[in-house]
Formats: sequence, structure tokens, C-alpha cells
Amino acid sequence: MNDFKDFKIKKQLYNAIVELGFEKPTPIQQESYSTILGGFDFVGIAQTGTGKTIAYLLPILQDLKFSDKPHPTVLVLVPTRELVIQIVEQIDKLTPYLDIRALGVYGGTNIKTQKQAILEGLDIIVGTPRRLYDLALTNVLRLNSIKKLVIDEVDIMLDFGFKTQLKNIFEHLPRKRQNILFSATMTTYVDDLIDGFLVNPVKKIITPSGTPLENISQESYAIPNFYTKANLLNYLLQDKEEYSKVLIFVATKNTADRLFEILKFESEVSVIHSSKEQNHRSKSIEKFENGTSRILIATDVISRGIDIDKISTVISFDTPFYPENYIHRIGRTGRAGQKGRSILFFNEKEIALKEAIESLMNYTIPFNDFPEEVEVSNQLLPEKYNPFDPDELNDKNSRGDVGASFHKKSAKNSKEKVERKSYKKILKERYKKPIKRGDKIQNKNKK
Ligand code: AMP
Repeated sequence: MNDFKDFKIKKQLYNAIVELGFEKPTPIQQESYSTILGGFDFVGIAQTGTGKTIAYLLPILQDLKFSDKPHPTVLVLVPTRELVIQIVEQIDKLTPYLDIRALGVYGGTNIKTQKQAILEGLDIIVGTPRRLYDLALTNVLRLNSIKKLVIDEVDIMLDFGFKTQLKNIFEHLPRKRQNILFSATMTTYVDDLIDGFLVNPVKKIITPSGTPLENISQESYAIPNFYTKANLLNYLLQDKEEYSKVLIFVATKNTADRLFEILKFESEVSVIHSSKEQNHRSKSIEKFENGTSRILIATDVISRGIDIDKISTVISFDTPFYPENYIHRIGRTGRAGQKGRSILFFNEKEIALKEAIESLMNYTIPFNDFPEEVEVSNQLLPEKYNPFDPDELNDKNSRGDVGASFHKKSAKNSKEKVERKSYKKILKERYKKPIKRGDKIQNKNKK
């Protein structure tokens, strides 16, 4: 499936692809085409820029027959109006030679005009959850003819709090349908949604690359607990030349806020996560971009929109639970061939996660000695230090703070085995079935 010709798509679609100038399918397109066309439930983990929109549009359009029926058979749900517009544009570009009726709906616009457009008849409807649900409630939009449901940017969708709207919409859909999900990062929310309503989905994970980029140097520190991690951070960040533009990843909004409070470089630090107002987020990013703030604390999901040059260092304050998120994180530094640096903090409970990352990259992250000048705190957080918010919390992800003796133990013998879990085991727990590594890194060695 290395060529669009292998897809055996109808010539109207093929011609449109040629005219768009696409030479060959991207890895996610190669991986998803037959599965989606075959009608299976599908989960694609791929970032924007991988060609994921066309990855689901192509098999859907291939399968779509000319219809003059009034109600849509394909529903695409996305978190933002910008995305609705982009997707409808991509459909238009793919269908100049096909008679397909597609409509985008989103809030903040006149619902009457949208109702009118729906009454004219539709094949594909693309929308944000709230507006879509409002339209379904009016009965103008009938969802009982939907055969394929796509949810794009699932992680953002759930992070924006659309879970209830999604559930409400699901109730209007026929039970027998194909579900297609795309998300850039894995989170527990996404996992739960997948577990909750998909039937044995085929999962494909496309990371930017399974191997680390050569221009990004990687290192790590074993650190026992939250406050010692913060002490080390305060120590390292004193060197303003070396750490000239630093993106710090944390796993939750709580950790982001807590860290913001205890970092010493107050005026130089910004923080973004999804509970902050859009205005605040834009300002934080702008300040980081133009250099007013040197340090930006961010969560995985919300950092998506950040495309900033010259980030000197990416620091993973928490080891990400999903190894592919680490690859996304470190890809923020070392852009455009510049040198980049990645530093990973891990505690005892995060060792297995670090190993999963190393297994994914086939690379062992070098280990730094803990600087003697930095105080090792014995203070544990009042609550169990868990990288996930309490309402996201479940046992499989729990990582507690551990005592101060940990870093000494690790520094003495970094190879010491402490509650090691194999990557296979983590995957097995995650996906509830054995997954071979070869299944996972789809684009590795494909360049
Ligand atoms: P997406 O990841 O869906 O946001 O797509 C990112 C961009 O890649 C869009 O502008 C697409 O038009 C473009 N694109 C999608 N598939 C291909 C392909 N096979 N070859 C070249 N560009 C593509």
C-alpha cells in the first residue's frame, strides 16, 4: 500500500488526489485505508500533519454511494469550528468529480441557516458536539441513518469537556455503526472512551518517528518525589544561557498549577492547560514565543498548538504514561536542524514508563548524577502524587511519591531492578491483548 494506485480507489477520487499533488500515501493513510474500508472500528493515534484527515476521508468517500436521500450517513465530530471548516474544505478538494453533499455546522452562527441547509439533503455532516446535538434535538437533523461515526481529535474533545455531549449524541445514533476515532495523544480519557463504546477496534499508532532525532540530546534524572523534582528544576533553571527557552511538560493541570507556584522564576514562567481561558492560553504562548517568558509549563494535550522555534530544552517533569507522548514532547526542541535537549525526570514508580519509552525508541536515555548541591526533600505531597487528576484517576495509572532514598539507590546502581514491568506487559494492560512491537510503530523504517 505504498502507492495510491494500490488502494484501487475510484478514478474520480484518484484524479482528485493526483491534482492535489499527493505523490504517495502517508503512513497513517497506508495503515488505515483497508481497515476503515472493511468496516471495522478503528483507532488512529496520529498528530495533525500526518495526513490523518485524508486517512479517514478516503475510505469513507470510496464507500459512499450516490444518494438523494435527505439524511446523512456519515457524521464527523471535531472539537473546534476551525477544524470543521478544514475538514469540509478537504472533502471539497477530494470530491470535485463526485456528487457528495457535505455540510459543516458549529456554534456561534445562525442555526436557522444550518437547518435550512440540512433540509436540502446531506451525505456527510461535520460538526462540533454542542451545535450538532442542538440540531439533532430539533429533529431537522436525523441521526438514525448514520452508518459511520468519526471522532477526530478525541483527546482535545475530552479535554474540552465534551464527554456529556458525545454521550448524548451517541444515544441518537443507531447501535450498529462503524466507529472511527483519531487522537494525537493517548490519555486515560481516550482509553476509557475506547473501552466504553468500541467493539474490538483495530488500533494503529503513528509516532513522528520511533527513533530519536539525532540533533536532540537526551538525558534523565532519578528523583524521588515532587518537591525534589521542583528543587532540581529551580537549580537547573538558574543557568539562563543554557536554559534559554524551556518547555516543561507535566501530566495534569494540578501539577502545572502547583509547579507554577513553587518555581522561583515567577516573572519568567507561564503556564497553560485546558482549564485556563483561551485568552490566557494565547497570552502565555505569545509571551513564551516572543521571549517575555523563558519557561512554559504545559500539559500534553494543550501543548498541541505550540509550534515554537528555538526551544532550547524540553523537560518532562512527569514521565508520560504513554510512550509515544514522549516522542511528541521532545520533538518540540531541535526544530529545523537546530540542537535540542531533552531532560526526563522519573521517580521509582515511573521506571517502567521510562523503559517503555526506551523500548519504543530502541535507545537507553543516559542517566545524570543528581547534583549534590540540590536538596533532596523528604516532604511528600499531602495527597498521593498522581500524574492524573483525581477524576481521571484509576489504579492502572497511579504513581505515588516515593521516599528520598530512591535517588541514592538509583544513582548508585541505575541498572537496579525496581518493580520493572516489561513494555509488553504495559501494552497488554493498556490494550487488554498482546500487541507485537511490529504492530505498533507503523512508520518506523518506512522513510
Ligand atoms: P492532517 O494531518 O490531516 O491535518 O493533514 C496535513 C496536511 O497534509 C494537509 O494539508 C493535507 O492536505 C496534507 N496531506 C494529506 N495527505 C497527504 C499526502 N498523501 N501527501 C501529501 N500531503 C498530504
